[in-house]
Amino acid sequence: MRKYSRSLVFLLLSFFFSTFLCLGDSSSFSFHETLTQVSTLNALLNGAYDGTVTYREIEKRGDFGVGTFQALNGEMVALDGKFYQVRADGKVYSVSPEEKTPFVSVTFFDPDLKFEIAGVDYEEFKKEFDKKIVNPNLFYAIKIDGVFEYIKTRSVPKQSKPYPPLIEVVKHQPTFEFKNIRGTMVGFWCPAFIKGISVPGYHLHFISQDRKSGGHVLKFTLKKGIVSLDITPNFFLTLPENPMSLQEINRENEIKEVER
Ligand code: ZN
Repeated sequence: MRKYSRSLVFLLLSFFFSTFLCLGDSSSFSFHETLTQVSTLNALLNGAYDGTVTYREIEKRGDFGVGTFQALNGEMVALDGKFYQVRADGKVYSVSPEEKTPFVSVTFFDPDLKFEIAGVDYEEFKKEFDKKIVNPNLFYAIKIDGVFEYIKTRSVPKQSKPYPPLIEVVKHQPTFEFKNIRGTMVGFWCPAFIKGISVPGYHLHFISQDRKSGGHVLKFTLKKGIVSLDITPNFFLTLPENPMSLQEINRENEIKEVER
């Protein structure tokens, strides 16, 4: 009888904990369902390129995302918990945990939906993905694994002080073109209300399967691939340390220049 009641207690406890853990996992209020961002897009456009948060801290907030580095030294791609730096020389370097970032967006990628797609360019892809955006007030982490007929990426060269605004930097951005390349696109779709804080709409970075090339995606044609998306209802923002006023900046046209 005593043995029996012990087992019952154990069962009840495990039921309690599994339910509790289950709720914890599926709760939308967790870092697994949060887009964490350092600084704002307007601050970056204004030349706030000094890193404020280390990648050691960033990896606690996500295993997937895009960003940049101290002094704007290249494009960052995070995939499966590994962080890559695509520098202006077009090569891919691993990221030291001590490295700081002035601008980054990460989440833990737990896909909610997957679909196959073939024979689309970036604009056609957007039209297909738009259909999956059921709630336009949420964030969507996007992963595209596939074979790309064509990709054009860019990186940004490391800057020195006084830092020029981003619009000046991208005038001299090195671009890279790839044909018939296998790899993964990593990025986000952000709601329109995020203007000034992040990039509204699509923002994708690329990393090749051999981890030797990548960058910020400008154009692509996808031969065949699988798109996964993670609906992300929370947003955590670390404000820029630089005390510049971001109130009156309207950089809508600059964002178009810088991101496309
Ligand atoms: Zn980018």
